[in-house]
Amino acid sequence: MEDKYVVLKQYFGYSSFRTGQEELIDELVSGKDVVGIMPTGAGKSICYQIPALLFGGITIVVSPLISLMKDQVTALNQAGIRAAFLNSSLNERQYEKAIGLAKSGEYKIIYVAPERLLTPSFLEFARMADISLVSVDEAHCVSQWGQDFRPSYLKIPEFIRCLAKRPRIGAFTATATNQVKEDIIQLLQLKEPFCKVTGFDRKNLKFVVKEPKDRYSEVIRYIKEHQTESGIVYCLTRKNVEEVCERLVDDGVSATRYHAGLSDEERRKNQDDFIYDKKSVMVATNAFGMGIDKSNVRFVIHYNMPKNMESYYQEAGRAGRDGEPAECVLLYGKQDVVTNEFFISHGQENSELSEEEAKIVQERERERLKKMTFYCHTNECLRDYMLRYFGEYGSNYCGNCSNCLTKFREEDVTEIAKKILFCIGELGQRYGSVLVIDTLRGSENAKIKKLRLERYRSYGVLADEKIVKVRQVLNYLLLQNYLVQTNSEYAILKLTEKALQVTEGSSRVKMKFAVEREVKVAKREKKTLVSENPVLFERLRELRTDLARREGVPPYIIFGDKTLHDMCVKLPTDEYQMLDVIGVGEAKLMKYGRQFLSVIEEFVKSM
Ligand code: ADP
Ligand code: ZN
Repeated sequence: MEDKYVVLKQYFGYSSFRTGQEELIDELVSGKDVVGIMPTGAGKSICYQIPALLFGGITIVVSPLISLMKDQVTALNQAGIRAAFLNSSLNERQYEKAIGLAKSGEYKIIYVAPERLLTPSFLEFARMADISLVSVDEAHCVSQWGQDFRPSYLKIPEFIRCLAKRPRIGAFTATATNQVKEDIIQLLQLKEPFCKVTGFDRKNLKFVVKEPKDRYSEVIRYIKEHQTESGIVYCLTRKNVEEVCERLVDDGVSATRYHAGLSDEERRKNQDDFIYDKKSVMVATNAFGMGIDKSNVRFVIHYNMPKNMESYYQEAGRAGRDGEPAECVLLYGKQDVVTNEFFISHGQENSELSEEEAKIVQERERERLKKMTFYCHTNECLRDYMLRYFGEYGSNYCGNCSNCLTKFREEDVTEIAKKILFCIGELGQRYGSVLVIDTLRGSENAKIKKLRLERYRSYGVLADEKIVKVRQVLNYLLLQNYLVQTNSEYAILKLTEKALQVTEGSSRVKMKFAVEREVKVAKREKKTLVSENPVLFERLRELRTDLARREGVPPYIIFGDKTLHDMCVKLPTDEYQMLDVIGVGEAKLMKYGRQFLSVIEEFVKSM
């Protein structure tokens, strides 16, 4: 079997794996089923594409999104990998042809819509084929608890039972609560799968909240400052989309629009214009974006506050999928709360819910809206707020959000830290953070009573502190290695040697906290991709646009921004050095290497 690193470099042009990828690949290769829950843009595809290339047989990828399938297959073909898709966008003749080629072993990876799996022609092929892996994309669709339940996903196990031998199964999704994860394992009938959940934090995204007097001038100013970059402006209503788009066009911005009120044809055209970099700004309602894989979106501006954090995270997350710095700016106005409230009260009419159920749903939505509104008001680190919303613990200071960047104060938290560390010691280093914090704050819950924790000296010594703050200090102590957490099921806190420095008083603990946000956010220092060689970057971009037009593929499929950027930094002079550039694999080197090298050479000569 080939080496996974060789495959990663040769076909995808990358030299290292991202968090989670390697483990998922290794487990699949060792024969296990896997579940990968990773945020959008984390790089789930490679987790099954690389095993697909390492295995002898064929990999079937079940995917519900037609546009995404096409994109993925185009990208794979570009990378020199034989792949095809089978879905309703093919007419009968095309479909027959593709199936024929599949039978003759032409493809290594086949994307298929779930409804196709049990059709006679597909089954006939699948029964005879040597299928080594079935990868289920958007696996949350199998669960009724997920956002987009698709009954056809429930047929996947039946399909697998029809095969000559049971292949390994991989399930991947970006959104899964625990309940959905359990459903995925059970309903897809996975066998003791290896599960990997990677964090929701997208470090390359900068989060900004503003409450401008005039939203439009904020938007136009931002776009003018980011002329050559690609971005999305999300509005709450179609009317807003129309207005903003028209004004932008009047102001000379290359903008287009998308909402459910446009004809299918116009929507498709506008979407293509954006994806193919013919238009740089897309103004849209939340109808835009599902299944869009454009990797070089450099900013996402929300013209209005969306209805909840889930939507915000999903929409803002369309920025920076290539892992390069990108910005997510939310423009907040009090009116947004009213508009969203209106949608909640009037949006449920067609649903099949009983009156009572509808009421409960509305209550939940109001609760979510409240949390979204808090996000716009908080003085804390925005990233931390978001991560906590999704049940993760961040640190109190990320340094890359508008709260952290505007103002923060340094606070000496030694006294709190001492109490935490002392408490952990006093309780015999036997408990996890929840019990430690409950003890410190003098909680009277059942667990405390049962373990009789109130008899310790630490009990209640931090009763006056906010729980969030105690939690933040504790996290900070973990991050700074004063504490470690065991890997067992109950993450137990243990003191390290470093803790002694604090408890014995030889070192102090200082933390940064975000404070009052200034009304005016300081102009960010410009940290774009093109800081080294803007001229060269532009020329490479032009070449890429040319090639993309000629081949009828989106530009980012040829090379991502990250790759062009790396060319500007590395300035390769021959093919060998070109292979060193991030995102340049062998197939792309053969196809495009010379042309990009000659642009670089010309530029270097003119310097
Ligand atoms: P997801 O399906 O999780 O949303 P994708 O698989 O589409 O994410 O990957 C997002 C982007 O990250 C793609 O442009 C992909 O080429 C890139 N990528 C994936 N893995 C790596 C890696 N190991 N190194 C660099 N870039 C990567
Ligand atoms: Zn922050």
